[in-house]
Amino acid sequence: MLGIGVDVGGTSIKSALIEIGDPARPETYSILKFQSIPTEAANGRDAVVANIIKSIERFDWRSCEYIAVASAGTIDWDSGTVTFATDTLKGYTGLELSKILSEKFGRRVIAINDAVGALVAEAFIGAGRRANSIMMFTIGTGLGVSFLKDKMLDSSSVVDTRMGHFKLYPDGRKCTCGECGCAEQYVSATALKRYGNENLYHLFRANDAVSKNVMSKFYKDFSTVIAEAVKRYSPDMVIVGGGVIEMAEYWWQNFLKEYKIRSEAPIACAGLGNKAGVLGSVYAMANGKFDRQ
Ligand SMILES: [Zn+2]
Repeated sequence: MLGIGVDVGGTSIKSALIEIGDPARPETYSILKFQSIPTEAANGRDAVVANIIKSIERFDWRSCEYIAVASAGTIDWDSGTVTFATDTLKGYTGLELSKILSEKFGRRVIAINDAVGALVAEAFIGAGRRANSIMMFTIGTGLGVSFLKDKMLDSSSVVDTRMGHFKLYPDGRKCTCGECGCAEQYVSATALKRYGNENLYHLFRANDAVSKNVMSKFYKDFSTVIAEAVKRYSPDMVIVGGGVIEMAEYWWQNFLKEYKIRSEAPIACAGLGNKAGVLGSVYAMANGKFDRQ
């Protein structure tokens, strides 16, 4: 059978046509086609929804068993409604995403949070296959932190922790959520780009004192946030994903030195790259329990 998975981020919307041998067996999921289009978040929520629809219509959706969306914003697992989104996706808060898409396509379409989607994929298909309770940090435009308890796919076991908005520095930088000093203002691709280099590859490879200082602060901030989240949720394993993981060879070993000072929880890089969201959304739809989606 076939499924379509969509991953809505602040910058791009990725979608994939996925072949599924047996919905309950993660190893039988394989991506047949993958594409990416701009989110056009600056054009407002209707433009974003139109682009989500476009990204589904690029495939023969009528022949698919599952259509599932993992999107930025806090999304209620049971209802598929966006309960909170920062100004990156203006007007997105309150959007009944699952309902709108289900009506548009005349069939069930589920919506979950994008960090949750990536977590589900890594937990069942990727780096977390052998662990039970998993916490995933996704470093992108913002910092997504989601937790999966005992590999159960229901609303009480899948938690969008919002630790990206954990107050790392009281009176720190203004955040898109309206508060100040949130973790994602220090631990995100956006935050790192603030130091002058749009291409993070240059920052990670640089040898000058200023860049090294930026990175050393990033390692400390990031490991502090992880340690705090581990204390609150006690995962068996921590997985780190997002675009910067593609450049892990330049920073991961140095980061681990700081991390090990602050936390003992086993940690690994995500293994599915930018395919995690599309895979996780479909896997969640095929195996999860949703009350009102
Ligand atoms: Zn915030």
